[in-house]
Amino acid sequence: MKELLAALLHLILPSPCRVCALPLDAQRRSLICGRCWSQARPVPDPFCPRCGKPFVSPLALEESPGHHCGACRQQPPAFAVARAAALYEPGGTIRQAILLFKYGGRLSMGSHLGRLMAREAGGLFEPRQYDLLIPVPLHPSRERERGFNQATLLAKEVGRAWGLRVGARLLRRVRATQAQSGRRPEREANVKGAFEVAQPDRVEGRRLLLIDDVFTTGATANECAKALLAAGAAEVAVYTLARVE
Ligand SMILES: [Zn+2]
Ligand SMILES: [Zn+2]
Repeated sequence: MKELLAALLHLILPSPCRVCALPLDAQRRSLICGRCWSQARPVPDPFCPRCGKPFVSPLALEESPGHHCGACRQQPPAFAVARAAALYEPGGTIRQAILLFKYGGRLSMGSHLGRLMAREAGGLFEPRQYDLLIPVPLHPSRERERGFNQATLLAKEVGRAWGLRVGARLLRRVRATQAQSGRRPEREANVKGAFEVAQPDRVEGRRLLLIDDVFTTGATANECAKALLAAGAAEVAVYTLARVE
């Protein structure tokens, strides 16, 4: 009955796709149309083998396949590698989906995005080499305000798909940080010493995969990786839903 009512309502007032504003198909029950989803792009190849940053020139890796980007050569990150399922484009589908999920309270979008992450990892790395997924934590005050941690919801979905456990409270954000903005040095100073491992015995000797929604400069991921390695983790890699170019 409820479904019939929803279908009727849709006939009268078709809801628009939240990206392109064209009417959505009533059966799909998604907020974004199929055409817009198909336009979400992966991070373009070639990219830095360490941090995943796309190189401007498609020839960048032709001469030396292990060539790292300038930032990684200058100051190698604490994490072993960072990869992302999709490119974060201004006005793009992924950005809009993240906004609906994080700030619009559309938690179903989180499941959808988590499944997308699980699916896309295949061409980027081997999930089975990790022991545990670690979501990048929010400060408790921020999490209370939002009602959830987006990274934890993504990690749970990814963990379900891969049969991996999620250590949701192993890493803690002990200092409330400013909303990240600005360039790399400011971002690094902003998150310095912000993370702490709650149960070092559970990360000791383990290969960990950090999960987050967006990778921008990598300052947050790097600081998390430092804390986990200091607590005895064998290796820390990073996998995010999206990456800013
Ligand atoms: Zn659309
Ligand atoms: Zn790099």
